[in-house]
Amino acid sequence: TAPALLRNFSIIAHIDHGKSTLADRMLQITGVVDERAMRAQYLDRMDIERERGITIKSQAVRMPWTVDGRAHALNMIDTPGHVDFTYEVSRSLAACEGAVLLVDASQGIEAQTLANLYLAMEGDLEIIPVLNKIDLPAAQPERYAEEIAGLVGCDPADVLRVSGKTGEGVPELLDRIVQRVPAPVGDPDAPARAMIFDSVYDTYRGVVTYVRVVDGHLDPRQRIAMMSTRATHELLEIGVSSPEPTPSKGLGVGEVGYLITGVKDVRQSRVGDTVTDAVKPAKDDLGGYRDPRPMVFSGLFPLDGSDYPVLRDALDKLKLNDAALVYEPETSVALGFGFRCGFLGLLHLEIVRERLEREFDLDLISTAPSVVYEVRMDDGAVVSVTNPSEFPEGKVGEVREPVVKATVLAPSDYIGAVMELCQSRRGEMLGMDYLSPERVELRYQLPLAEIVFDFFDQLKSKTKGYASLDYEPAGDQAADLVKVDVLLQGEKVDAFSAIVHKDKAYPYGTMMAGRLQKLIPRQQFEVPVQAAIGARVIARETVRAIRKDVLSKCYGGDITRKRKLLEKQKEGKKRMKMVGRVEVPQEAFIAALTAD
Ligand code: GDP
Ligand code: MG
Repeated sequence: TAPALLRNFSIIAHIDHGKSTLADRMLQITGVVDERAMRAQYLDRMDIERERGITIKSQAVRMPWTVDGRAHALNMIDTPGHVDFTYEVSRSLAACEGAVLLVDASQGIEAQTLANLYLAMEGDLEIIPVLNKIDLPAAQPERYAEEIAGLVGCDPADVLRVSGKTGEGVPELLDRIVQRVPAPVGDPDAPARAMIFDSVYDTYRGVVTYVRVVDGHLDPRQRIAMMSTRATHELLEIGVSSPEPTPSKGLGVGEVGYLITGVKDVRQSRVGDTVTDAVKPAKDDLGGYRDPRPMVFSGLFPLDGSDYPVLRDALDKLKLNDAALVYEPETSVALGFGFRCGFLGLLHLEIVRERLEREFDLDLISTAPSVVYEVRMDDGAVVSVTNPSEFPEGKVGEVREPVVKATVLAPSDYIGAVMELCQSRRGEMLGMDYLSPERVELRYQLPLAEIVFDFFDQLKSKTKGYASLDYEPAGDQAADLVKVDVLLQGEKVDAFSAIVHKDKAYPYGTMMAGRLQKLIPRQQFEVPVQAAIGARVIARETVRAIRKDVLSKCYGGDITRKRKLLEKQKEGKKRMKMVGRVEVPQEAFIAALTAD
């Protein structure tokens, strides 16, 4: 297709504002998916996405649309809508000239949408504002059209009104995309340059790479090179999704499609990288490539120690499809053998964990999520700590922690509640703006570690569910942080070590000591449970001694009951972990880690 007849666009929307439904409707109206093949959320391929109603991996699909007798090809690039995947969003947007800003007409704009809208504006994309769900009785299109017009800088009358559910207004939206979104421009004679905006592992075909061609041409059997690694591959297949993969004779300037090279691991074909011709390579890449950087770490351990090899294989498999997932073996006194894993954020962690449990039938326990701390030692060495139990002892100079710029959108009635929450989490206010008399945008700098611990849940509960949150990394800062250890009879229990702000060390220590005191069964001797900073004990509880004789409960007689009890005790022993001389059932550790 000639570039003049191409339009590349994304849909920016908050979760649940109707992106998938609208995408489905577009596929139907343009005729690329017929009624029979249509199923809800056609583009959300992973089961877990379908169930949670979120889009994790972006996909691209090509649709024909004729305006004024000219047949155009529209490429719709689906972007993930969650904070953890901001980088993927920015790459998907970079593959487009326009973005549909889709807002639920009964809800108004949300923080995540705002963040993605700003990304699109920075990328100079043409923004097409649209109010969705106008069929809902609760829709307030007039009110929210004002709000959106104010943000985008257009007339409220220019905000389209559609219903992805009924299809109303969708043909007009497709027309507007053709009229308003600029056609792609590029140099057809230059060496090939294409940007990777998604990369998916498929069991049968290996890695499927989604690209947008900027200059030149990509052809079947061509030898291509990845500009970040200089690795070269042969193009075994090249094509477009419409929406099923359809091989084509090649992709030219402005076109969006997929490549198959036979590589088996998405790390060889990374989002943001530039594909070029191996024989006649381009001089400069398209920019914007960055190594995925895990922000949150957690230990994952199989409940049943014999599942360790299964967990290892499962992580190896998931990694094929997830360039951002990192892991290395970890051994814990309390939890046995497992892996220390790095994630882009909390949702990413949850998704990986859920996939491991669901797709590989594993029962897992995860330790409290931790951010990455930079510890400057007195001798000048800098240590990066992703596991609190590895926090260096002794000569620690400065400790730095990652911070984020957070944006909260909330009804103005809740300003006080939001400010209070942010302040209690060591937040520093950066600014505040009214989007309308009823809605306000608050900007804070916050330590990432404070967000990692139930910040979002707290925000939701303090605003009756009305606030929305977005954040982006904003470097790091020095902070007064200490490591709190938990000890049983003087022995450290690694899984409970935590790095916390000095002011929160005492509450954390008291809570953990109290929890464990309740959960640890009595032993034949007294067991002190302590929390300590270095050698200084900050909290202490005691598990009192007991003569551990289960048979004393059976008043003589019943021999079968006695045998059963003995067997049970033996079974229990298998799952016991020794911390020094203290026997602790693994369940107690797990309960202490998971309690609220
Ligand atoms: P996404 O998270 O943005 O992809 O949103 P979905 O397309 O999954 O839609 C979220 C919910 O809103 C689903 O229950 C949809 O059925 C519903 N929905 C989507 N579009 C419309 C619409 O135009 N009208 C109504 N009434 N409901 C809609
Ligand atoms: Mg969706």
